Amino acid sequence: METPSRRLETRIIHAGEPQPRIQGAVAMPIFQSAMYEYAGETDYHDLKYIRLNNTPNATVLHAKLASLENAEAALVTASGMAAISTTLLSLLSIGDHVLAQDCLYGGTHDFLTRDFPSFGIAYDFIDADDPDSWEAKVRPETKVVYVETLTNPLLELADLEAIAEFARERGLVSIIDNTFATPVNFRPLEHGFDLAIHSCTKYMNGHSDIVAGAIMGSREHVERIKRKLDHLGGSLDPHAAFLLHRGVKTLFVRVRYQNESALEIARFLEGRSEIVRVNYPGLESHPSHERAKRLFEGFGGMLSYELTGGAGAAKRFIAATELPIKAPSLGGVETLLTQPALTSHAGMSREDRARLGITDGLVRMSVGLEATEELIEDLGQALTK
Ligand code: PLP
Repeated sequence: METPSRRLETRIIHAGEPQPRIQGAVAMPIFQSAMYEYAGETDYHDLKYIRLNNTPNATVLHAKLASLENAEAALVTASGMAAISTTLLSLLSIGDHVLAQDCLYGGTHDFLTRDFPSFGIAYDFIDADDPDSWEAKVRPETKVVYVETLTNPLLELADLEAIAEFARERGLVSIIDNTFATPVNFRPLEHGFDLAIHSCTKYMNGHSDIVAGAIMGSREHVERIKRKLDHLGGSLDPHAAFLLHRGVKTLFVRVRYQNESALEIARFLEGRSEIVRVNYPGLESHPSHERAKRLFEGFGGMLSYELTGGAGAAKRFIAATELPIKAPSLGGVETLLTQPALTSHAGMSREDRARLGITDGLVRMSVGLEATEELIEDLGQALTK
């Protein structure tokens, strides 16, 4: 159904669905076939084969996901990291240079710092909230600027509009990892970004049962990235595509609920004496709250907070909670808690963590779909303990 003028919540359900419905099926069936009969294709990349990202479960998702970000085209991948690595490797080659935000998801940070040198690709980190500092880092070989909508675990919101404008004025490709916001809360292409990337493992699927990724942008960019994905092979298999398709249909209601729940929880925590600071863009105390109000339609389901008693208190608090699951990752229906200094950022030195503001007493929370008042009650009893 071509529905570009419909509201997002309607497009989530109907955009990209096969017309006519396959055998009348209301849900998209799984096409568990690796290859398909020849139908007169003349180009290798057009042969129907799961790795070539053109079989039915992938193509239906491409149309739906493109519609959600208001993009010309989309591509699904086997993981968020497959989306990130394939995109960067299709736009950058030996001798090129990329500017990247200094507080990236660990996997992306490691890909730049550990793998780029062997590809002959250079990088510089930028403070994405300090536009005056960017020009000095641009080189004639700079091709790409790469940022995230909200940083992990401090939920910082950089000057995203300035980043997109800076890139456009210099002919650089601007890429944003929009995993934390989802298209429900923020659609980067509407604000001048060239490409949006998602770890669909998180909110897009929302049920903590697959890994998947996606890239949305112009037809030209997405086609170029598809060619690279065809070669690198990080393609999404039909069963995972089916689950992602099913999961994404409830994205709007899940994210809306998580937005409301996280805001209530953030306000509750901010009022507790055991908490030094709550990082959540929906709070008036957040340094970029005004920007978040202007750019976002909701503030998301992720927050972090620092306990007065440091690492020991954070550990005891997490152990005393009953509802949240102590596990990495985010964006699912169940509330998850982690202590970044001991998990996602344990590989960093204490000094580097301190420089970034990731203290030992910091707790990160991915708010799920449980009753908000029961989560608050649980957090309250754990803090008291
Ligand atoms: N981007 C962000 C913001 C993430 O949090 C993650 C994973 O935690 C990724 C990308 C990588 O996604 P995946 O684990 O699906 O490869």
